Amino acid sequence: MPFRVRSLIYMVPQIIRSLRAPSITVRFPFAPAVIPEGYRGVVKVHAELCRGCSLCVRDCPAAALELHRENRETYRLIYHPERCAYCGQCELSCNFGAIYQVNEISRSTLHLSELETVLVDRKPEEEDSEG
Ligand code: SF4
Ligand code: SF4
Repeated sequence: MPFRVRSLIYMVPQIIRSLRAPSITVRFPFAPAVIPEGYRGVVKVHAELCRGCSLCVRDCPAAALELHRENRETYRLIYHPERCAYCGQCELSCNFGAIYQVNEISRSTLHLSELETVLVDRKPEEEDSEG
């Protein structure tokens, strides 16, 4: 039997099987994304636990965190999800259990600056705010 005919005999059932199989293509963003439990997604902070020590900033391999400090009691912890490698190092580095990842993906945008997120906005006269 010629080689091409043999290939065809082999391929036709495969093609039929593929056509009958349900699609496995993810429909996101046209349908909600199904994110597995335990997926290490975007970074959040329990702002009331944050001490502004900047260990998470120091250890982030992707420079996705910034700490802008004015003085001891006034600082902002800023997160750039577009740079984040979702490695979890910040969570490991934080001695206060403040920073953590959730199973959420970062939203998409054409303007990266829109993704910048203030996780902690600490001011001396204010109570803590959750990021
Ligand atoms: S998950 Fe990794 S890359 Fe993302 S902010 Fe934390 S340390 Fe940086
Ligand atoms: S989140 Fe944790 S490691 Fe990062 S500045 Fe706050 S206390 Fe320090």
